[in-house]
Amino acid sequence: MRICRFGDDRLGLVRGDVVADVTDALSMLPPQRYPVALGDQLLARLPSVMERISELETHAVKFPVRDLRMLSPVANPGKIIGAPVNYMKHLEEARLDPKIHHQNKIEEITRVGVFLKASSSIAGCGEGVGLKHLDRRNDHEIELVAIIGRRGRNIPVAEALDHVAAYSIGLDMTTRGPEERSLRKSIDSYSVVGPWMVTADEVRGPAGIGFELRVNGELRQSANTNDLILDVPHIIAFASGFYTLHPGDVIFTGTPEGVGPVQPGDVITCAMDRIGAMTVHVRHDP
Ligand code: MN
Repeated sequence: MRICRFGDDRLGLVRGDVVADVTDALSMLPPQRYPVALGDQLLARLPSVMERISELETHAVKFPVRDLRMLSPVANPGKIIGAPVNYMKHLEEARLDPKIHHQNKIEEITRVGVFLKASSSIAGCGEGVGLKHLDRRNDHEIELVAIIGRRGRNIPVAEALDHVAAYSIGLDMTTRGPEERSLRKSIDSYSVVGPWMVTADEVRGPAGIGFELRVNGELRQSANTNDLILDVPHIIAFASGFYTLHPGDVIFTGTPEGVGPVQPGDVITCAMDRIGAMTVHVRHDP
């Protein structure tokens, strides 16, 4: 199932080029009482919401996908986890280019582990990216995103994919500079997730997914998840060895070579096998 959020916090079911408005399925979520449970309530109740979506589809109002402003499929991620330098060729380019490494020591993920981005940096492709520090280089990083559906800690590699509810395309936007990744990658709208989430049963695993990113039509990044240094099950096992993963936690799995700067007015297009394609407009948002 392809599930999107769009417009004024509407919930949609995507079928080809058409979206059915199934917002009424959100009535499956329990009434909230303070304090709310950690994580995202839609992802925590996804199986029952999906059942209700199926019932609602036939009589739902339908819209063409292209008419809708897509929001992040996860509204309230508790954590946005990032995997640094998780493709060998990106490790090489980052080590060689001072405009990327800024004297930071670049090491592969098996030595540095994972990092966190502020949950307030989440955005949908329809919201676009607002660049903040134009005196810095602001780079695109396309990545496969895994969305957690089931809580877990110390998750074994062999069970890791049972905890993934869905996959999306991610843009881990990055301001280059000497500061910690968690600061430079946490600017509002610097974690684009979209255009929708495709449930794990439909994706059939995170391996062998080809993807590409273009800026104003020019090919910048092209790779396949088979080239990940630490694959999705190992990232989940590793991260959950440090903290509990909750429904709605979003994992950016790392970007391949070809990262580069974007400017206000640029248009980023991303395409990923088994997920879809999204267009992201870049603007200045001081
Ligand atoms: Mn990244």
